[in-house]
Order: sequence, then C-alpha cells, then structure tokens
Amino acid sequence: MKKFVDESCIFCKIIAGDIPCARVYEDERIFAFLDINPIVAGHTLVAFKAHYPTLLDAPADEGKALLEAVKKVAGALLGVTKAGGFNCIQNNFRCAGQTVFHSHWHIVPRFDNDGLPDWPGGKYDDTSTMQELARVISTHIDSGAAGDSQ
Ligand code: 5GP
Ligand code: ZN
Repeated sequence: MKKFVDESCIFCKIIAGDIPCARVYEDERIFAFLDINPIVAGHTLVAFKAHYPTLLDAPADEGKALLEAVKKVAGALLGVTKAGGFNCIQNNFRCAGQTVFHSHWHIVPRFDNDGLPDWPGGKYDDTSTMQELARVISTHIDSGAAGDSQ
C-alpha cells in the first residue's frame, strides 16, 4: 500500500508544521511555500500534501487541485513581484535535478533581461527521425507502458 506521509521527508515535515516555512497557500490537497534557496525572490514551491515521490506516483485526480493552486500562486506572484511572466518547473528523478522526492512544482517569476538561462534548442537529424521517435513514444503510451504508475 502506498504511503501518503513519509516521516523522513522534509516536505512532509514542512506540511505537517514540524519544520517552519514561509507558507503562501494551502488547501485540502495542496501546500505552497517559498523556496529557501530562491532562483529569484518569490520563487514558490507548490506541493501535493500527500507524499508522492515523483509526478509518476501522483494520481491524475490530484491534477485539478494542483492546476488551480498553480494558477492562484502564479497570478499572485505576477501581481506582487510585477514579473512579466513565470516558469513552472517540475523535476523528476535525480538526473533531472530532483533533490526532494516529494513531488512539487517550482513557480519562478521572470523579468525581461533577468539573466536567467534559456533552454538550449537542439535539432533532429531529419524529419523522419523525429516522426519515428514520435511513433515509438505514442506506441508506448497506447500500450500503457508509460505514464501513470498507479
Ligand atoms: P527539486 O530540486 O527537488 O526540484 O527542488 C527542491 C527545492 O526545495 C530546492 O529548490 C530547495 O531549495 C528547496 N528546499 C529544500 N529544502 C527546503 C526547506 O527546508 N525549506 C524550503 N522552503 N525549501 C527547501
Ligand atoms: Zn513527503
């Protein structure tokens, strides 16, 4: 059976109130607080209250609450910081930069010429390589081999 609280998880401790944080939003399913090492002031983490290590562990029916909370937090950040935009960043697994294995979104206010790096844009060798990769991915999705791990 899945565990929805992990006693060793720092975010579970924050959500339970056992470790202090700068909370910005909370509802039945979602908890949002300022990142302790912000990319920029206002950088907020929006987390499920339940302990899902990665996005793949989260049931899809948590998605509505998550999206509503992200929109509330991002809208408030735009208003308060006067940012011109924002990034939603969501790291999954160590090689993608995940350091806290309690699934969460980073909401990062962005400003013109803020000096933050853009993602590099690569290229496929040719269109058929790109089409073949899309076909293989879509076959995995159709077969249920990828996606929701519930
Ligand atoms: P990840 O690398 O897993 O996507 O993001 C984890 C984030 O959690 C990091 O940006 C890190 O600064 C933040 N973080 C780690 N420990 C704490 C903490 O105790 N309090 C707060 N507010 N943020 C934390
Ligand atoms: Zn946790």
